[in-house]
Amino acid sequence: MTTPRTPEQPVRTTPDPRTPDPAPRTGPAPRTPDPDALAALRRRYRHERERRVRPDGAAQYRDADAGFGYWAADPYTDGPHERAPLRDTVDVAVVGGGFGGILAGARLRQRGVARVRVVERGGDFGGTWYWNRYPGVHCDIESHVYLPLLDETGYVPEWKYAPGEEIRRHAVRTARQFDLYADALFSTEVTSLTWDESSETWLVRTDRDDAFHATYVVNATGTLTDPKLPGIPGIEDFKGHTFHTSRWDYAYTGGTPEGGMTGLADKRVGIVGTGATGVQAIPMLARDAAHLYVFQRTPSTVDVRGNRRTTAADVGADRAGWARRRRENYLRIVSGEDVDEDLVADRWTASAGLLEKLTSFRRPGGGTGSAAADRAAFEAAYEAADAAKMDELRARVARTVTDAGTAARLQPWYRYACKRPTFSDLYYPAFNRDNVTLVDTADTHGIEHVTAHGVTVGGTTYALDCLIFATGFNVGRSGLTSGRLPVRGRDGALLRDRWAARGPRTLHGLTSHGFPNLIQLGPLQNASSVNFTHVLDEQAVHAAALVAAAEAADALVEPAPEAEEAWLAVLAEDAPDHEWFHAECTPGYYNAEGRGRPNGPTSYPHGAVAFHRLLARWREESVTEALHPRTHPRPT
Ligand code: NDP
Repeated sequence: MTTPRTPEQPVRTTPDPRTPDPAPRTGPAPRTPDPDALAALRRRYRHERERRVRPDGAAQYRDADAGFGYWAADPYTDGPHERAPLRDTVDVAVVGGGFGGILAGARLRQRGVARVRVVERGGDFGGTWYWNRYPGVHCDIESHVYLPLLDETGYVPEWKYAPGEEIRRHAVRTARQFDLYADALFSTEVTSLTWDESSETWLVRTDRDDAFHATYVVNATGTLTDPKLPGIPGIEDFKGHTFHTSRWDYAYTGGTPEGGMTGLADKRVGIVGTGATGVQAIPMLARDAAHLYVFQRTPSTVDVRGNRRTTAADVGADRAGWARRRRENYLRIVSGEDVDEDLVADRWTASAGLLEKLTSFRRPGGGTGSAAADRAAFEAAYEAADAAKMDELRARVARTVTDAGTAARLQPWYRYACKRPTFSDLYYPAFNRDNVTLVDTADTHGIEHVTAHGVTVGGTTYALDCLIFATGFNVGRSGLTSGRLPVRGRDGALLRDRWAARGPRTLHGLTSHGFPNLIQLGPLQNASSVNFTHVLDEQAVHAAALVAAAEAADALVEPAPEAEEAWLAVLAEDAPDHEWFHAECTPGYYNAEGRGRPNGPTSYPHGAVAFHRLLARWREESVTEALHPRTHPRPT
């Protein structure tokens, strides 16, 4: 039994004797913070939020496709290659070749499934790491816990935070090891999934005219896949060069993700966006461009990175199961559970007490009991710890950036984890360079116009040769409810219509009544974590177990409506009250651009560790709840 930590209690860490953390660790929060100071802080946060909320919310954005094909095209492949449309039958179709799809494929292979066909829009495996090759791209979670299947592949990452290319290569290595290339379809998008009652298989159609059957479908299409742009006037009139960070044009910039972008040496470059992507790309652009204009709307929190090379000995990789132990230790910490030691010991784990709202779980204990007074005391401690953390981050800016005005504009005024926390030791120093100008767009709610030759903010036009959008992704464009992928189950019912009326209905977020043998990976109605590959792996293990159980019983994977009802009741019963937190946060994709979190409880309320435990027990004891008798014999 573990004792829950309160937000201000850091876990015991295992220090790295070779490279000490370059900045002081977050200390305990003051036990009795000055109430006037806290009230002033709250007022400041409210003011900053009000300055930023826009009435058009998520409608302020536009897709990077639909008339903007060159922003969304795939610059990393010489395909698509000619091939004949497929009309065959496979055991499992996996939609998406990122880590979710690779993990599903690997775990199915381990269960002896022969024909696994991964269908992927990109020209190779890798997903996010296929598309995002912008300069400076790195994992922002420790590589040794983020990269999946390290025990299985024997690979030991070379950096604490791996560059994107190392991660992409690991995706390729893993797909090779589990023989996923043999049946894979690249540069191919699944356009519909239709349940064929007569054969009890799915008919999978694609944009390459394929129409093949699959006994099972695993949907692993990710969440942050479709690049988005500000929907502002003039964006299509820009006559200079332009692209989105997830489609980096090295043919124009020269260089590689490591830098060396000689094509920018005489260019005035503008970058819009200072989220996790912008924070990584900006220092590289600052180094290589003649002049860099950074168009910022909301500053990120940028904490200490401390990246370094690592050896197998550093992470104990000579011991069997080292990677599993490490990532479980990490998951426990970032899920608010107590541990004896912190193996990763970085700024994520040091700030673990402040992540509860981000991954939407209710901390075990720590004042979550029935007494409202306990909860109030817990929230007060949370607020104090949060204020201390944000003060520390604002002080970091002031310490590093020499121009006081620029430093003030770079300071974040909202609660920690309102936005994706970021980490860099190169970002703030970039603003001390003479060739870098920070343009604050908060007062105008972002850049206002793009002209033929530049960007206008507050009446000033900044002349540019190149305009880069680090403006993120359309959240949820790729899921089963997104509308992008029509899924027709029993009786031809469209899944998105079914769910539109009463919200999504699933068992564990993974399966749904009326949609047999369809397994959905992703954060919906299960558990999330900042280390999302870990969550995906647990889901992939579960998906493979469901397939194996259905095969053994000659049944379909399909929960009864009662099982879905029971699961929704579990989600609702102890749902964490994080609405107020997101409602008070500065806008972004975490809170539907300032409108709070939609659709009621979407996560298992006790966190990822407890959810994984629940799934494992359910597989042992209750897997038949998700099985439904076949009406037709299996096709051979
Ligand atoms: P984000 O959505 O986080 O950031 C988009 C940025 O564009 C924000 O700074 C936003 O400002 C700004 N923006 C949008 N519209 C305008 C406008 N009209 N004018 C000015 N600025 C504008 O996208 P990212 O690509 O940075 O990150 C997306 C996610 O990808 C991250 O949250 C993270 O989950 C993941 N990621 C992970 C990495 C990893 O290493 N694991 C690395 C990079 C990304 P505002 O904040 O005001 O809306």
